[in-house]
Amino acid sequence: MAKLINIKPYIDRIANGETSNILLADPISEFIQSSGTSGGQPKLIPMTAENFEKKTLELTLVDPVVKKYFDGLEKGKTMSLFFVKKGSETPSGLTVRTLTSCYFMSDSFKKSAPKICTSPIETILCLDHKQSMYCQLLTGLLQRDHVVSISSIFGSVLARSIKFLEDHWNELCSNIRTGCLSDWITDPGCRNAVSPILTRPNPELADTIEQICGNESWEGIIKKLWPKAKYINSVITGTMSQYISLLDFYGGGIPLVSPSYGSSESTFGINLNPLSNPYDVAYTFLPNMAYFEFLPVDKDGEEKARESNLDGVSSQWSSEMKNANGNVEPVDSANVKLGQYYEVVVTTFAGLYRYRVGDVLKLTGFHNNSPQFQFVERRNTILSIDMDKTSEEDLLKAIGNAKRHLEPLGFVLMTFSSYAETSSIPGRYVLFWELKFKERNRCLKLDAKIMEQCCSIVEESLDFTYKSLREANKIAALEVRVVKHGTFDALMDFYVSKGASINQYKTPSCIKSEEAVKVLNSGVLEKFFSPKTFFLS
Ligand code: AMP
Repeated sequence: MAKLINIKPYIDRIANGETSNILLADPISEFIQSSGTSGGQPKLIPMTAENFEKKTLELTLVDPVVKKYFDGLEKGKTMSLFFVKKGSETPSGLTVRTLTSCYFMSDSFKKSAPKICTSPIETILCLDHKQSMYCQLLTGLLQRDHVVSISSIFGSVLARSIKFLEDHWNELCSNIRTGCLSDWITDPGCRNAVSPILTRPNPELADTIEQICGNESWEGIIKKLWPKAKYINSVITGTMSQYISLLDFYGGGIPLVSPSYGSSESTFGINLNPLSNPYDVAYTFLPNMAYFEFLPVDKDGEEKARESNLDGVSSQWSSEMKNANGNVEPVDSANVKLGQYYEVVVTTFAGLYRYRVGDVLKLTGFHNNSPQFQFVERRNTILSIDMDKTSEEDLLKAIGNAKRHLEPLGFVLMTFSSYAETSSIPGRYVLFWELKFKERNRCLKLDAKIMEQCCSIVEESLDFTYKSLREANKIAALEVRVVKHGTFDALMDFYVSKGASINQYKTPSCIKSEEAVKVLNSGVLEKFFSPKTFFLS
């Protein structure tokens, strides 16, 4: 029987002052804090100087690929929306930061940022996210003629920034008109960095932006505000796919490029086909980043993985894997099969050995001999009541079907989340939806019949187990709770207050924390239930 070794005690010992060679040969330079917003708790991941260099290499590899598809990128800048989060220290004095903070605070980024980003480095490093976002949008608008791409780490941040723009464009225009920065921007770094860009009153630019933003519909707003932008660079796969239609709507036809797939633990791959359909993006694994193995799993869940001796939480690893005695073994890159689903297992240069990241991937092709995977879902992000287990992928598809019903009626589903409400018997799945009309000033008035149809469409789209349990009344009617504008911002603020970084925040498609459910419940406007009772006949 193979042994399971839990990493946490080793991490704790190093954090408390023991030498890092109890876990890895190279000295730990700092700890990376993972976001923990996709279901689990934030974790401390060891980082070494060499590993950090490898991680930055991923970012430099993406650029030449994108440049092959879009001309003239070197002549302009990226309108970036990047943020850092305050770090902390372990009792032994090792720094703890998120990966993106670590990168944006690095000397190499600080050196290259002025040439490539419209955001002055001081605005990116400002710890007050509201001031940071305001100044990054302002400097992006002031340099709109130079902007050739728009970039955030995840699509959710871009969606939030557009909402922020909706709330602040009047004030931004007034700053541009007068040449004076708003008084509430008190961060000295931001003030100093904005002043060489906001040098004079510019009423013509203010008029242009005001005219664009004052439009009834914000369809294509990104293209109108930044007319030379050739692409939007943000991860929009996995749980971020919920933002694709919204970013398409705001982008007005600008291609969405999902550049790479990585985590605090390791870099995995990059997208070699930037123009591929956002729903079909596959990442080519970079074999020099870590040693990758792949644990076969069933499409609809963890069953095969559960049989393997790698079972358990992803912070565990095993010193050996069970061999062929009926249990599933992980395979290396040379032995993966097209169409098969895998959970990625990684051995890194920074002390992680056969570590289960928790992501489920599907093999869709090869580039030379390197496997190309589509991201499917987080293994632990599922809704479950009774015998039903609904995967993130199935939930995204079911909600996508309901979205198609709403869109012709002028609604945009901005974002969603869900939870399994089990305080009553039988329990039910509850979806939280933030909806708005395409025309900005139109008041959100919901037709109960249409909303109930949406509930039914979601239920219809779920699998046989769900439908049988519904029919047997072991699961109650699915409920949609429509929340008011800004409720999901409050959810992000809640997770950020608990330690998540804005850059790496992923709106959880399924919520387990009662406190987070409370945040969403506090914004509920109306509730709708599926009227459907027969599913299988
Ligand atoms: P963190 O370590 O906090 O940065 O979170 C890493 C996790 O984010 C990964 O394990 C994935 O679940 C998710 N993630 C990162 N990149 C992508 C991507 N390109 N597509 C889908 N999910 C991603």
